Amino acid sequence: MSNSYILSPFKSSSHTHAHCLGSALSKAESTCAERGLRLTRLRRRVLELVWGSHEPVKAYDILDSLHDNSRRAAPPTVYRALDFLRQEGFVHKIESLNAYVGCGEPGHSNAGQFLICSGCSAVAELDDVDIINMIASKARQLGFVVQDHTIEVQGLCAECQEKGL
Ligand SMILES: [Zn+2]
Ligand SMILES: [Zn+2]
Ligand SMILES: [Zn+2]
Repeated sequence: MSNSYILSPFKSSSHTHAHCLGSALSKAESTCAERGLRLTRLRRRVLELVWGSHEPVKAYDILDSLHDNSRRAAPPTVYRALDFLRQEGFVHKIESLNAYVGCGEPGHSNAGQFLICSGCSAVAELDDVDIINMIASKARQLGFVVQDHTIEVQGLCAECQEKGL
């Protein structure tokens, strides 16, 4: 059984998040270089803020954090930076929370599936072809062609279950 469909597992609360952050930033840098795109300072900073943890971050929290440094980051430029990061697959929007989370494997081909812990707010990301095919085939029975889908599942991660949340 391969676990390759797990793009981003739930991390233990004691993990070294600096490693996640560092690897996300360096992946984004190399991907931008490959694609001939510019990871501007603002785009990099926004990505860094989204990757501040494994909890989804709201756009206005990003705006708030940017306030400290550069006095006034204009909202449209921050939204444009978020759009860029989404388009390139570095971050995903969790629609049910209206918030952003870093992608575990930028460049994966399918829309991911997200498991959202209601205890600690952490998000795990899957890209499970079985789930995608199952939905496509059920939809086909209704004469429906799936173009895009977002799967967001609420629940409790193992650590939060242990804590009895
Ligand atoms: Zn981490
Ligand atoms: Zn992803
Ligand atoms: Zn949790």
